[in-house]
Amino acid sequence: MSRAEVSRMRSPLVPLGTLIGRELRNEKLEKPFLKYGQAALAKKGEDYFLIKPDCLRVPGNPSTSFSVFAIFDGHNGISAAIFAKENLLDNVLSAIPQESSREEWLQALPRALVAGFVKTDIEFQQKGETSGTTVTFVVIDDWTITVASVGDSRCILDTQGGVVSLLTVDHRLEENVEERERVTASGGEVGRLNVYGGNEVGPLRCWPGGLCLSRSIGDTDVGEFIVPIPHVKQVKISNAGGRLIIASDGIWDALSSDMAAKSCRGLPAELAAKLVVKEALRSRGLKDDTTCLVVDIIPCDQPVLPPTPRKKQNMLRSLLFGKKSQSFTNKSTNKLSSVGVVEELFEEGSAMLAERLGKDFPSNTNSGLFRCAVCQVDQAPADGLSVNSGPFFSPASKPWEGPFLCANCRKKKDAMEGKRAGIPTVTS
Ligand SMILES: [Zn+2]
Repeated sequence: MSRAEVSRMRSPLVPLGTLIGRELRNEKLEKPFLKYGQAALAKKGEDYFLIKPDCLRVPGNPSTSFSVFAIFDGHNGISAAIFAKENLLDNVLSAIPQESSREEWLQALPRALVAGFVKTDIEFQQKGETSGTTVTFVVIDDWTITVASVGDSRCILDTQGGVVSLLTVDHRLEENVEERERVTASGGEVGRLNVYGGNEVGPLRCWPGGLCLSRSIGDTDVGEFIVPIPHVKQVKISNAGGRLIIASDGIWDALSSDMAAKSCRGLPAELAAKLVVKEALRSRGLKDDTTCLVVDIIPCDQPVLPPTPRKKQNMLRSLLFGKKSQSFTNKSTNKLSSVGVVEELFEEGSAMLAERLGKDFPSNTNSGLFRCAVCQVDQAPADGLSVNSGPFFSPASKPWEGPFLCANCRKKKDAMEGKRAGIPTVTS
């Protein structure tokens, strides 16, 4: 072999090897690392949390890792909070089609969260216990953050631009007109507590049951219009990183999102979580269970989340948008994408299962059975509810526009929409 031939053979090899090496290094650089801390003070002992870093999309492949952080604020007992903590993640993951690519996995995640929440609620109901729980469930995959929530625990995002945004919606009857209307339309009554003498006191609650929340997992005794269908929001932050603060209402009843973010900026996550709890106690005292998780998403080449150049950034923004920085900060809660720091990928909060699951949920299995989009049970098409199975419904109700549901999950769907009681349904 001549020297020229050797060099011809070699020359493509060397750059290829370099390229692969570079690619691997880049991938390593691109993946952020997470630092997190947790702090809590119990009053009733009904707050639970979940910290699960390094979950794997593909078993045995560490490059497919993602992390889960969640808070479960229980009420009327602790069993729903514990049940959700132990089962929700598995139920969500089982609703994501096997062998999805990373992009497909992230795209499937919002509706898998809906399916997982509803499945967990159905399973808990079958235990015949009466407690309930809020859930704020955060999945972090590289720079993409997906948050699903029911109830009034909250997750905020403090980006490096110094903008604080809310990634959850409060399902409190007092503060959510849409939810009040939905609960009333589904057969619930919304009002305040009536004390002796006919005086109404306290926050708006729904009756029967007297719950202040419109969505939760559990609460079997309250009424099916208290649905477990989560608000889901998916965002991608820039590789400058950001901080998440996930906390139960013990924090948020005392601190605004801005106050919580400001109280711990520039501090490591563990200390930050402690400070947020301390700050909430300082202003309100210990009136409720108070739990806080702080998660920093940090570029790999930086040891800590860099301090926020807040004033300068806000000044620049107010120049760009011609508004006072304060008003922009408030508005940005709803409109993240205009800043360019955070890309909004998905947001949906409807309580209608059909709207949340979509029609194209993969439902055919190899065996000729259909797979339920909620609980993943295989069932013969005739036993469940598919897009074209009109006869299951009263003529008055809208045709089902969602994916296949098994008989059990169909019952749940009808109950959540207030169709079970009073309205005669035609069955085949
Ligand atoms: Zn099902």
